[in-house]
Amino acid sequence: MKIHKLKPQNTTLKPKLRVAAYARVSVDTLHHSLAAQVSHYSTLIQKNPTWEYAGVYADEGITGTSTTHRTEFKRLIADCDAGKIDLVLVKSISRFARDTVDCLHTVRQLKEKGIAVRFERENIDSTSEDGELLLTLLASFAQEESRSIGDNIRWGVRRRFAEGIPNGHKAPYGYQWDGEMFRIIPAEGKIVKEIYRRYLAGESAYAIAKSLAGRGITGRQGRPIEQTTVKDILSNISYTGTMALQKNYINEGRVRKRNKGELPMYLVDGVFEPLVSKADFDKAQEMRKLRAERAVNRNPVLLPFSGMVKCGCCGGGFSRRTAGKYRRWGCNTRERKGRESCDSRPIKEEELVAAVRAVMEKNNFDATELRRKVSKIVIHADCVEFHLTNGRIKKTARIYNGQRGSNPFTNKVYCASCGSKCERDTWTKGNKVWACSQPRTKCQLRRLPESELRDAAASFFGDSCEGQIVQNVERITISDDEVIFQLKEGGAYRWQRQ
Ligand SMILES: [Zn+2]
Ligand SMILES: [Zn+2]
Repeated sequence: MKIHKLKPQNTTLKPKLRVAAYARVSVDTLHHSLAAQVSHYSTLIQKNPTWEYAGVYADEGITGTSTTHRTEFKRLIADCDAGKIDLVLVKSISRFARDTVDCLHTVRQLKEKGIAVRFERENIDSTSEDGELLLTLLASFAQEESRSIGDNIRWGVRRRFAEGIPNGHKAPYGYQWDGEMFRIIPAEGKIVKEIYRRYLAGESAYAIAKSLAGRGITGRQGRPIEQTTVKDILSNISYTGTMALQKNYINEGRVRKRNKGELPMYLVDGVFEPLVSKADFDKAQEMRKLRAERAVNRNPVLLPFSGMVKCGCCGGGFSRRTAGKYRRWGCNTRERKGRESCDSRPIKEEELVAAVRAVMEKNNFDATELRRKVSKIVIHADCVEFHLTNGRIKKTARIYNGQRGSNPFTNKVYCASCGSKCERDTWTKGNKVWACSQPRTKCQLRRLPESELRDAAASFFGDSCEGQIVQNVERITISDDEVIFQLKEGGAYRWQRQ
C-alpha cells in the first residue's frame, strides 16, 4: 500500500463588500463639514473587516433649494454602473435625492444592479424586506424635512398606498390586496378570529391546529394549518390593522436578523382591515411569553445547555433543533450560511446528555450542578470538550455508531467515475454499501461495502477512528479499484479495493 500526497483544494474566500459613501453639505459650512464627513465615512468603512473602502463622494448643496450641481452624485452613479461599488452609505434620505421620485428612481436603479443603499439616520437598507416600502413612506416625509424621523413612527397613510403595495408583500392568511388596502377574506377572517378566541380562552396552538386540521381547514397552499402557522397568526400585528415594517433587517455580515430594537420599527395604520383588537393581540403576546417560559421549566434538559454550547469549528454558538422525536444541537453559522462556512457536525441531545453524565461521573442529570461546574461546552468533530469553572478541561469522544445523524462518512463520499455524491444504501441481507447516487444506467461504479470502508479507515487511522475521520477527512473518493481519503490539511491516503 502506498501513500501519495495530493494537493489541498483551494478554499474560496468571500469577497469583501466594496462600500462608498455619499455626502451633501451646505455651502456656508462646507469646509469644516466636508472634511468631517469624509473622515467619518472613511473610518466607518475601514473599521469593518468585511468592507472595502470605495471612496467618499461629496457634493456641495444649498439646503432648501433644488439648484445643486451634484457632479459627485453623477460620478457615484457612474462608478456604480461601472460595477465598482456594492453598497452606498448615505446620511439621510433628504441628502440623497432632490425629491421622492428622484430618490426612489435612483435607489431602484441601483437595486437592480445589486447595489444596496443604506440610510444612516433612518436605518434603512434598500435591499431589506421592507426597504422599498419604507423608502416610499420616508422619502415623502423627508421632503417636508421638518419632521424628525428615526424613532418609532406611526402613520396614517392609507392613501399613500394607492399605487399599490411594492413587491414582496404577500397578503397574510385572511387577507387579499384589493389595490387600495388589504381586505378581509370572510371565510379566512373567521378562522383567524377563531384562533385568537380559542387561544385567549386557554387552548394551546397545537390543540387549535389539530382541531382545524380535523375539520379539513387548510392554509394558502392547500396544506393543513400547522401549529407554527397558528403561532405566526397569533404573533402577526397586521391582524390589528397596523402594519409593522422592519421586523427583520440585514446586518453587516449580510445575515437576516430579527429586529429586537437595534433599528426603529415603523408602524403604519390603515393598510389592513382589523380582525383582532389591539387589547386581544397584546393579551395573546403575553400568554405566548408565559407559556414559552412554562414550557422551558417543564423540560429541564433544554434549559441547562442554552447559551453554553459552542462550535469547535467556527467558534459560533450551537442551538437546539427538533424534528419529530429527533433533538439535536447544531452550529448556527452552518445553519445560516451553509456547509462551506462551517464544517461542524450536529450532535444529538441524548449524546450531549450522556457526555455530561460521563464528565460529571453521575447517573442523573443535574442542571444546576452543570451550570455551577461547567462554563462552556465546545463541540468538536471528534470530541466534546467541557470547560470547567475551575479552569480544567475534560473531554469525551464523539459517538459515531452509524445510526441516523451519526455516521462518520456522511456527506464525505464521492464517486470517482462521475463526480457525483455517493449514498449509503442497504444491499443484500441488510448489509450497508456506499453507491453512486446516479442511476445504474448513467454510472456503473462498483458498490463499496461499508465494512470495507471501515476497514480501510481503520488501517489508516486505527480502531475507533470515527471521530478522527469526521475531524480530519475532507473527502472520500471511491473508484472501481481504490478508495482515496483526502485529508483536510492536505495529502491523502489510498486504499486498494478488495
Ligand atoms: Zn460552526
Ligand atoms: Zn458515479
